[in-house]
Amino acid sequence: MPTKIAWSPDDAAELYRLEAWSDGFFVVNERGHVAVKPFDNDPLTIDIMDVVAEVRRRNINFPLLLRFQDVLRARVRRLNEAFAEAIAYAEYKNVYRGVYPIKVNQLHEVVEEVLDAGAPYGLGLECGSKTELIACLPHLASDETLLICNGVKDRTMLSLILAAQRLGKNVVPVMEKFGEFEQLMALAADSDGKTQFGVRIRLRTGGSGKWADSGGYRSKFGISLPELLELVERLEASGAGDSFVLLHFHLGSQISDIQQLKQAAKEMAQIYAELVNRGLPIRYMDVGGGLGVNYSGGSDGGINYSLQEYANAVVSAIMEVCDTRNVPHPVLVSESGRAITAHHSVLIVETLGAYQKDRVADDYKAPKGSHRMARTLSEILQSLRAAAEGSLDLGELLEAYHDVVEVHSEASTLFSMGYLTLEQNALVERLYWSSCSAVLGHLRVIDPDPPPVEMHELEDKLIDQYLCDFSVFQSMLDHWAIDQAFPIVPLDHLDRRPTRRALLVDLTCDSDGKVSQYVSSNPDKQFLELHPLRPGEPYFLGFFLMGAYQDIMGDSHNLFGRVAEAHIYGDANEEGNFWVEKVIPGTEVQEILAQVQYFPNDLQRRMQNLIKEKIESGAVRPKRGMEILDQYMACFKEETYIDPRGRI
Ligand SMILES: *Cc1c(COP(=O)(O)O)cnc(C)c1O
Repeated sequence: MPTKIAWSPDDAAELYRLEAWSDGFFVVNERGHVAVKPFDNDPLTIDIMDVVAEVRRRNINFPLLLRFQDVLRARVRRLNEAFAEAIAYAEYKNVYRGVYPIKVNQLHEVVEEVLDAGAPYGLGLECGSKTELIACLPHLASDETLLICNGVKDRTMLSLILAAQRLGKNVVPVMEKFGEFEQLMALAADSDGKTQFGVRIRLRTGGSGKWADSGGYRSKFGISLPELLELVERLEASGAGDSFVLLHFHLGSQISDIQQLKQAAKEMAQIYAELVNRGLPIRYMDVGGGLGVNYSGGSDGGINYSLQEYANAVVSAIMEVCDTRNVPHPVLVSESGRAITAHHSVLIVETLGAYQKDRVADDYKAPKGSHRMARTLSEILQSLRAAAEGSLDLGELLEAYHDVVEVHSEASTLFSMGYLTLEQNALVERLYWSSCSAVLGHLRVIDPDPPPVEMHELEDKLIDQYLCDFSVFQSMLDHWAIDQAFPIVPLDHLDRRPTRRALLVDLTCDSDGKVSQYVSSNPDKQFLELHPLRPGEPYFLGFFLMGAYQDIMGDSHNLFGRVAEAHIYGDANEEGNFWVEKVIPGTEVQEILAQVQYFPNDLQRRMQNLIKEKIESGAVRPKRGMEILDQYMACFKEETYIDPRGRI
């Protein structure tokens, strides 16, 4: 790799592709730190290292999820304004009324902030389960505010929805299955007979990308066209045609191709036109979720459209069909969750150590009595180290590498047969890694094009492991499950060139507990460029775009619990341009133990018995025994992650 001597924060921004994925919310500042720019019409920035310093001062533990509430609000505004602009530009004759699907992030503060920022735009909510319905209902401030109820619904839910409708609330259950419609009609007939509902249509147009199976004929949910006709006939026969108010589809999350969305919207608009012409007064057309987030900055199969293009596509596709069929323009609804919440939260993770392959000192020479193999490797290494940069050609370097590999594997064979001592084998190991690294250093200088396979092999072998204080299964489930890459950037030192290539590994005892895909301008995204760790100096990484789905889907693998959270607001009148509104501590050891049925009282009794036996047998003095018990009990209130500056 050709190496440039000078390095500036701008180079760091380019390497980690901030411009491509941050949507203007994150920048590298002149101190070489990552900063947040939370407001659209204000240049104010918040240095994330200042926030880290503040939370450290308050003794809050890492990993820590920071929520930038202003970013959340900005996303709500941007979405609504994109639709307003599309509507104005096309002269569409109706309005947009988005709903926020709370499954993306149900945290109460998130829902309240979204509703508050969305109030000027009439933003509503969407729920997909009984518990979500119960959480959403009391938040319908105005009678106009929409609550769309997707998902499978039982009698309890349908009755509650009918009751909310009786209160005058604009709740629309979406019929996912024909049986649900029959049940709703029966329950409505028991009360005053009046209700309103929507229908999820099983479209021919499917989605694309990793979540494609939510739409199209293979989708789990939805009513087919023959069922739709039957439903309409039954409604007309019972004179309840005016209760059918909404048509819905959902292609799946993270739609990658905007053409598919347009196709689906047109397909549904045709159905809408037919039903309106039959006299059904359908008011809403709901295009579901799926508005994508550009996690990897478009570098690998991301999304091919902007927020504005998405809004334009929905408006123009539906308008075109309505105008051709000469039917009124419906209220447009979308259920964008990911696009609203992804940007606002950043997970702050501390590195606990860096592990690189063992090496020998720069001027090392194997002593006389060393094993033949160690001496051979030592000679190869010395000549590699003595050669001037660029003086060895590709052939010579590959030959040296092949020799080194051969000696190393021969040494393994000898060791397993008992012919090589542990000391000599360890020396071979260190010489082997030192030689590999010397070969790679020379290869990077001559920068062969195309690079030989050996070069990839070496890059791969020589990667450092950085142990990080977090769990992939708790905080980045989509990375483990569907290889979603999330941008990760060191929060500090960005004015220095990152010289290490790292694989991030987590705390879990699971070989999948690592980050294996990175967002970087480096075409080989199997590693992250990081700085060498300095003893005694903490090194913090920011994991970005974590606000959608990750925290709620996280699980407790190895009993690592939820991480602590801090909610941050920007304010130019405060020191550092921010203030911390709320801190939610991470899960305590005792809470997570209780989830798997271990309780402090019982554990204490067992531990006490164990210690008592030892006291009785004279193995420990009573005082010491009781101290050990106290020490054990004090751990119940600890958080589940590693505390590198531990107190107990
Ligand atoms: C999950 C889901 C959403 C949210 O999708 P995003 O891609 O996060 O916007 C919307 N509607 C329905 C029916 C869903 O299941």
